[in-house]
Order: sequence, then structure tokens, then C-alpha cells
Amino acid sequence: MFFTATVLSAIYVTAYAADFCYDEGHCDPYAWGDTYPTCHPLLEGHHSPINLDRHVTKDVALDALRLHGFDSVHKGQWTLSNDGHSIVLDIGSGMAVSGGGLPGSYQTVQLHFHWGSPSTNGSEHTMDTQRFPMEMHVVNVKSVHPNLSAAMEDPTGLAVLGVFIDVVYGDNVHFSPISKALPSIAYKGQTTAVRPFPLIGLLPQANLTQYYRYHGSLTTPPCSQVVVWTVYEVPVHISWGQLEQFTGGVYVTEEGAEHGTQLRDNFRHIHPVFSRVVHASRDARLLAGVAAARHASGLLLLLLPAGLCCLTPGLVRA
Ligand SMILES: [Zn+2]
Repeated sequence: MFFTATVLSAIYVTAYAADFCYDEGHCDPYAWGDTYPTCHPLLEGHHSPINLDRHVTKDVALDALRLHGFDSVHKGQWTLSNDGHSIVLDIGSGMAVSGGGLPGSYQTVQLHFHWGSPSTNGSEHTMDTQRFPMEMHVVNVKSVHPNLSAAMEDPTGLAVLGVFIDVVYGDNVHFSPISKALPSIAYKGQTTAVRPFPLIGLLPQANLTQYYRYHGSLTTPPCSQVVVWTVYEVPVHISWGQLEQFTGGVYVTEEGAEHGTQLRDNFRHIHPVFSRVVHASRDARLLAGVAAARHASGLLLLLLPAGLCCLTPGLVRA
């Protein structure tokens, strides 16, 4: 996860002058620590993302989070932008998350996406080492803090909801406000207004009680270890066309640049869990069931005639 330049500008401007990237050796995730010392994955560091596997601890007290204002249409307008690292939707006031074991109430401030390329998946977290085509992060700041700087000093200052995104044939109408606006912000630095819509439509609405919880970090510089992560177990789905808008239609370069470069594979590598405990919510299926289901579907795929192979596109990509 990460913030827009706007939200984190105070931190970037005062502490860090250099930019970061995903695709060049001198500035990719393995080199971030050279410029941003807090991105060094030192021993016992609590960094993100992680692989979610069977080594999770059930916590029956973890029920669904309360998502305040997520089912409402708010007044005003939101801003969708291409900051050269992701597509970011800055959200106005009126939404917050709490409950589900979170240590307080957190105001929702933005969401953004991580993706791969036409031939690779690009979620940040993995489930039993499997990477999904995309991952969405909904970023929330603990309400007791007067500003972001204060929240960044709190080990639980941020709460991020991670949502895996898989692919099917039909468009997801809930993503239409973002899909329709994407062509107008193809290049770095471009922004556009988006009419507010119910954010609940972007979440796995039928499976909100199934998630994993752990303490980790921002997945972009400065990689601060201040995040309470909630990673939903069941993905939401978009269409191939909607996925291709991200993998083929977003650039890290500005409009008119001599050598346009597409933004792809904007995910950080997996980090060790070390001594952390990853909790599974009361209704999570503890991964074993999920892995078995996906494996079984994969076997079914092998048995299908070639002409029917693409009826399970999400599995082809996984
Ligand atoms: Zn993110």
C-alpha cells in the first residue's frame, strides 16, 4: 500500500527527495533501502506484504469490521489520479472502519491498486504462494491522530484493507466509475474528478467475515511499520477488459514523454513473517480449504476440452 504524493507530501518532501520505481535496478523494491533506510528488511522486521499460508491462528473474536458510510453516496467529488506508482482514488470525509479487532476507529482516506502485466499476476500478498491478478488497498488513518505525521508514529496508526482481485468475463459494474475514468489519467500526474459511489461495491460483500489479520508495513517507501492489515480471503472479480486497462493502459511516464513506459508489476516482494502471529477471522477457511478448492478446479481445467479452457480464466492466470 502507499499514499499519494499529496497525502504523504510532508514526509516525502522533508525526509526523502528521491523517487522510487518497480522496474529499474537502481530504484526497484530491492534497492528502496538504499534511499529509504526504513525499507531495509532487517532481521525481525515487520514488513509487508507477506505470504498467507496455513500457519495462521484462529481468533473467534474477529468478526466483520464495521464499515461506516461505505454503503452511502456522499456529496462532493473524489479525485482519481495517476501518481506514477499506482492509480489512486482520494476519498473525502464520511467513511470510517472499526470493529473486527481493530484498536480504534480509522477514517478512510484513499484506495489504490497493485497489478501485474498481460502475462503476470500482480497482487502484493499471496495466498499459499499464489498471486492474484490484482490487489486493492483501502487506506484508513486512526481517528485519534490530528494528522498523518502523528499516525505514522503509532505502530497501529493505519488500518489497510487488502482485497484480492481475480478475473472473469463479465464487467464488474461497481468498478465502472474507475474503469471509465482510467483512459483520462493514463499518464503520470494526470487527475480527474469522480462522482462518489458506494465503496462497499468494491469489497467482497458476501464474504466480509472471512479475512486475515497481521501487523506490518506500508509496501512502498518509507515502508513504515505502522499498519494493521486486514486481508480479505475471497477475491472480488473484474473482467479481462477491466484488467487490461491497468496492465496495458497506465504509464509511469508523463504525456508526451519521448519514451513512454507502462506501469506494470507495481508490487513489492514477499517478506518473512518472523515472530509475528497471523490471525484468521472466525469465519476464515484457514487457507487449506481455499488451496484445495483452487487445486481441484485446476485439475478440472486439465480435463476440459481445449475449447473450454477459458471458462476459468482466473485460474489460468493464477
Ligand atoms: Zn498498496
